[in-house]
Amino acid sequence: MTLQETFSPGATRLAKLIRESRSTVALTGAGVSVPSGIPDFRTPGTGIWENVDPFEVAHIDAFHRDTARFWKFYRPRFDQLGSKTPNAAHAALAELETRGLLRAVVTQNIDRLHRRAGSERVVEVHGSIETCSCTTCGSSYGREAVGALFDEDGVATCPCCMGKVKPDVVLFGELLPEAAMEQANALCEGCDLLICVGSSLEVYPVAGLPSLALNRGARLAIVTQGPTPYDRDATVKLEGDVVDELQGVLAAL
Ligand code: ZN
Repeated sequence: MTLQETFSPGATRLAKLIRESRSTVALTGAGVSVPSGIPDFRTPGTGIWENVDPFEVAHIDAFHRDTARFWKFYRPRFDQLGSKTPNAAHAALAELETRGLLRAVVTQNIDRLHRRAGSERVVEVHGSIETCSCTTCGSSYGREAVGALFDEDGVATCPCCMGKVKPDVVLFGELLPEAAMEQANALCEGCDLLICVGSSLEVYPVAGLPSLALNRGARLAIVTQGPTPYDRDATVKLEGDVVDELQGVLAAL
């Protein structure tokens, strides 16, 4: 990582907002992990989603209907995700927390990269690949332990009750985990600066979090390429590369 000597005017303004804020929260989406080589599945024709419809294969009904097919698709994807490493955007957010300038990260990403970059307070509203749970008895299994649970049909099976084991990620057709959403809501209601990073802010209920913050008088900063529904509400919008912009903010602080 090279020390950035120049940074965008937006980065300077965001650094000022961070200094002025007493409670800053970051809300991150797929864009923060793209520099780690994890494609945004909403970008058609990229990576692992090239020949499949994620809404079909990653649906809770598909898991129950044909669990072997589900795992056949997901197992390599999880292995691939597990091998990715955090990038300098994750590192910048972890650094802000270390400096006492960021209260928490709320993320839509399931890749654990915020934690691996050193962020301590991370709310994963779509779950994470860290664990899997039995859909019958609720037993939890770490990522490394799951490999031993597959039966000859390629279905991860709970040794306690022979129930089906499912990754602790939110599939289409499932509600978001209640406890995580409550934490996310409370953080956004209690902050005075919400920095949205790498998210198009279009998928509810996460897309409602900036409204919660704005309604309580918080400021909104957006670090995302491309339009979001909140662009007009944002005090500052940074349109550059997410790594460059966040490293720029750190340098400007
Ligand atoms: Zn079980």
